[in-house]
Amino acid sequence: MILVTGGAGYIGSQFVRYYTRCRPTEKVVVLDNLVEGHLEALDGLSNVHFERADIGDFENVKNILSKHRIDAVVHFASYCYVGESQENPSKYYQNNVAGSISLFRAMEECQVGKLVFSSSCATYGVPVQELINEEHPQNPINVYGLTKLLIEKILTGYADTKDWSFTALRYFNAAGADKSGLVGESHDPETHIIPLALKTALGTKEVLQIFGDDYDTPDGSCIRDYIHVEDLAAAHLLALDKLPTQKGGQFINLGTAYGASVKEIVDVCEQVSGKKISHTFSPRRKGDPARLIADASKAASYLGWKPQHDLRSIVETAWNWETKKRY
Ligand code: UDP
Repeated sequence: MILVTGGAGYIGSQFVRYYTRCRPTEKVVVLDNLVEGHLEALDGLSNVHFERADIGDFENVKNILSKHRIDAVVHFASYCYVGESQENPSKYYQNNVAGSISLFRAMEECQVGKLVFSSSCATYGVPVQELINEEHPQNPINVYGLTKLLIEKILTGYADTKDWSFTALRYFNAAGADKSGLVGESHDPETHIIPLALKTALGTKEVLQIFGDDYDTPDGSCIRDYIHVEDLAAAHLLALDKLPTQKGGQFINLGTAYGASVKEIVDVCEQVSGKKISHTFSPRRKGDPARLIADASKAASYLGWKPQHDLRSIVETAWNWETKKRY
């Protein structure tokens, strides 16, 4: 049986939904402290056993691992606001890093040595090449990215000394929602561009701020590689299935290799919603590189993964969710 940490969060719950859809006879244990997660995100899933717990609660996690005879962990639980990580680094070191170490210690005690880890393109820092591959230097420019890099290194130590097999999936910009419209992105505060643009279209946000129109990009706004959450979920399952025959650690980018500018996002959000999105231009946001685009060829060759959703489908599913948001 697998344990999914952070399984009530935005990406974690999408994975649980996808997993139970693909493996209808298998059960999943979800561990979430519900600080950022939403129990409603697991609505309608019958094969899920929910444990409200913190990854840092060593004894509790150990009991959960042994009680359910867990043989692999998919580890999503993490704080994920870049801005907040700069203001409150201790919170990120404590939860993301110390919490993960505690989880790994519990796994070690229970002889669970297989794990898929949610890493991030934030581990790369400022790109030195157009398409970022997995060999790109890792020099994170914010605490959030640093916590993800530290965990990658810690896992490498477990692979070297304890024969763990793990895959760290480095996401680019996760976006979109489940096509059912039942689950989607719900952060408080919301800081991500697609939900904010759609909230502006809906009228629940007055004006969208575009951070910077003087970047060295064709239209002057930042370029990012947006990847649909369901495509992310599919990659996790492929990575999980590889672990039994995999030795050591793998590091894999998850992106589409297509870069969309902030202005393009606004255009697509206007087309999909059929509403005008009022926006202003504000100064650049600190720590934002001009462009972040994945070289996603390793995900294709190693995992056999190919994203199924383009930007339009990302925005359509996000709009469907935003208009009938339940939580
Ligand atoms: N962005 C923006 N206005 C906003 C929020 C984001 O212009 O209100 C820009 C941001 O500067 C970045 C892009 O949108 O270039 C994606 O930002 P987001 O916060 O969605 O994801 P991140 O790239 O930080 O993970």
